[in-house]
Amino acid sequence: MIFLMISFFSFILLSKSFSLMALPIRKSVIAITCFDVSPVKETRSLKAENVREREEISSLLDLPEFVLECILERLSPTGLFTMAGVCTSLQEKCTSDHLWERHMKQKWGRLIGDAAYSEWQWHIASRKRSTLSKGTKRKTWFGNVSSLWPVLWNKSKLGTGSETRSSVREDSVMAWYLALEGGTFWFPAQVYNRENGTIGFMLSCYDAELSYDSSTDTFKASYSPHGRRTIEDGIEWDRLRAPAVDNPAHVVHVSDCLDDLKPGDHIEIQWRRTKEFPYGWWYGVVGHMQSCSGNKTHCQCHKSDTVMLEFKQYTAGSQWRQMTINRKTHSEVGNRAAGFYGGIRKLYNEEEISVWKRHWQFKVVE
Ligand SMILES: [Zn+2]
Repeated sequence: MIFLMISFFSFILLSKSFSLMALPIRKSVIAITCFDVSPVKETRSLKAENVREREEISSLLDLPEFVLECILERLSPTGLFTMAGVCTSLQEKCTSDHLWERHMKQKWGRLIGDAAYSEWQWHIASRKRSTLSKGTKRKTWFGNVSSLWPVLWNKSKLGTGSETRSSVREDSVMAWYLALEGGTFWFPAQVYNRENGTIGFMLSCYDAELSYDSSTDTFKASYSPHGRRTIEDGIEWDRLRAPAVDNPAHVVHVSDCLDDLKPGDHIEIQWRRTKEFPYGWWYGVVGHMQSCSGNKTHCQCHKSDTVMLEFKQYTAGSQWRQMTINRKTHSEVGNRAAGFYGGIRKLYNEEEISVWKRHWQFKVVE
């Protein structure tokens, strides 16, 4: 019988229409609100024993805890959000961190790094300080989360009716998920080929503050105010990454790979126009010294203190095509004409390298 109950509720809660269509949502919510588990006519084939058992379990909340957990774990964010509006008990269960952590990891895990998490913690703390400084009683709950998740709210077509008003603890995973999903929280990440692939930024990756637009499934980026203030929108997921290293954009990254660099290696190096600007990360490869023929048998480049870096997105002869660094002393090198080169990361991960290659638009820059 328990199996039948699981199947039944799974059908109700996991049906496609639950998350996508307005009418079935209402029916589902109403059915659960009324604790009515009998939308299907009883058939005479049911044994009396089963009927008695069914009568005993008359509420969703009467299900064994692990059964209810199994159901809730299979709900989409929309389903959890909607279910949280049914009653106080379900609100408590559906806003649990462990249920939202899975959704958080699934949708945002690749993009949300330590920097974004720290920013969110700071955001929560500043809200608490702001509330305390005003001498008002700190709210434990955000209140109506529709303001945090307007698109979902519209999609669900539940309007602003009181039956679905819900609230969420401000330091919960759900609140963080909703803030990201609703685009109300701008978080730090990096954008490949910034400004819609502007040629001057090809094969670079810049720090930006990002806001998600769930109606288009794209992002808006705001680049550093210390450089040229720029907003770009319509950025798709594959042009974004969490910062590869925990390094502020104005600070030289400490290179820990210099002794390991050899021709053919793939690297990222920091570069900035002036010392007032933030660094971006630029993709390149380690090349051979001019004195080397490139013949592997005779190549001694990996033993030289000087390392040749090549940026093949630029034409041969371009001032940006090649530069050298000293592997023993390298920190930041450059000048106002050529810009300033900072720390280097050697790319060991094939996936990281393939992502850079995907962003190479096969245009060579003058
Ligand atoms: Zn060589």
